[in-house]
Amino acid sequence: MITYDARNFRSIEYMKYLPEQLKHEIDIVSKVLPFKVNNYVTDYLIDWDNYETDPMYILTFPNKKMLRDHDYAQVEEALKKKLSGTELYKIVNSVRLSLNPHPANQLTNVPTYLDEPLEGVQHKYKDIVLFFPSQGQTCHANCTFCFRWPQFVKELDLQFARKEIDGLIDYIRSNDDIHEILVTGGDPMIMSPASLKKYIDALIEAKIPHVQSIRFGSKSLTYWPFTFIPEINEEAEAMLDIFRKIVDSGLHLSFMGHFNHPKELTTEAVQLAIKNIRNTGAEIRTQAPMLKHINDSSDVWRDLWTQQVQLGLIPYYMFVERETGPYDYFSVPLAEVYKIYQNAIKFSSSLGKTVTGPVMSASPGKVQIMGVIENPANQQKYFLMQFVRHRDVNKTFKPFFRQYDEKATWFDQLKKVESTEILV
Ligand SMILES: *Cc1c(COP(=O)(O)O)cnc(C)c1O
Ligand code: SF4
Repeated sequence: MITYDARNFRSIEYMKYLPEQLKHEIDIVSKVLPFKVNNYVTDYLIDWDNYETDPMYILTFPNKKMLRDHDYAQVEEALKKKLSGTELYKIVNSVRLSLNPHPANQLTNVPTYLDEPLEGVQHKYKDIVLFFPSQGQTCHANCTFCFRWPQFVKELDLQFARKEIDGLIDYIRSNDDIHEILVTGGDPMIMSPASLKKYIDALIEAKIPHVQSIRFGSKSLTYWPFTFIPEINEEAEAMLDIFRKIVDSGLHLSFMGHFNHPKELTTEAVQLAIKNIRNTGAEIRTQAPMLKHINDSSDVWRDLWTQQVQLGLIPYYMFVERETGPYDYFSVPLAEVYKIYQNAIKFSSSLGKTVTGPVMSASPGKVQIMGVIENPANQQKYFLMQFVRHRDVNKTFKPFFRQYDEKATWFDQLKKVESTEILV
């Protein structure tokens, strides 16, 4: 019998653990970066004896180093002066806008149907649409590194969200290249089963012959596993029923679980939640970015994949952190990301080798670093790369070179290579 205190009170009670100065810093940084945590994370995941280096603490609590010094000072000053709401907002907003809130042109992939833009839908790759139900545009807790952070800041107004699914269904029906629907957010698992069910029932009832799979992108297994534990949460059975219904309808259901650190997989609650989801017939695939201070270590990734395989999860993507938000704090140079990946995968069980990585979700598509190669003729190093996803499917899975750059942290910083150079 599992006994968790599962009141999701989201209070600031955890603050009692923190020294005054740190509370002050959190207060300032969270004016810019949205901050939210719940008592499952604070009581069961964070190691308060070593919180300053604890990955779960860093993952959820903002800290001073996540803002540039002058930005931090500016917000601190504004608070000290007790500036009015609008004046404070002006400052906070200018800092936010300097944090590249729209990476990889997220706004340009909104499709149109009957000449109307389909709000709450993104269609970048032919075979799969992203659907952002309006009630799922928040999360149980907020990750400090999150690239969706502008969605949690209402003023930035680039929330993809839609209330009605009918337009989406018509769009999918009229486009037989679409085989998959990825329901995402925020976190769609924050929705009540009743809200989610409306969308899913409509999709199932539409019986669109070319739709084969539904995916849910979610961090709820880490942040609120009770969503899937009927003994603790009275709505959980209804949620699991939705999963069963999708599977029974003949659609493939893949739960895309987001796990940054093996610690997230260690509690009794998460393990039971995983078991319950798998018992519905859904698969759980996993993905996460590599982040400095949290998981920039081969051992961590090896443990992560090993534990995932043990629990029946399928490693899927290892990402490079996007250039947005507190990016300077979390970014790891591509050369190092690759080394960490290589040393992790080399010593992992083959069952963990289902992971594709390291991958950058860039404007043209998802680009994978396949290796670092030295040309003996000129002693130059190069990255060998390929697109595993591209807007133009003909451009995928064609290896190509980019100049090696020890410091580069994103694809667009890598210089092109003259073809003659690699033949010398
Ligand atoms: C990553 C991504 C997908 C899903 O891609 P898969 O490679 O099938 O997992 C779909 N749409 C967008 C915009 C994405 O970034
Ligand atoms: S759970 Fe996902 S969408 Fe929500 S804050 Fe974390 S990274 Fe962002």
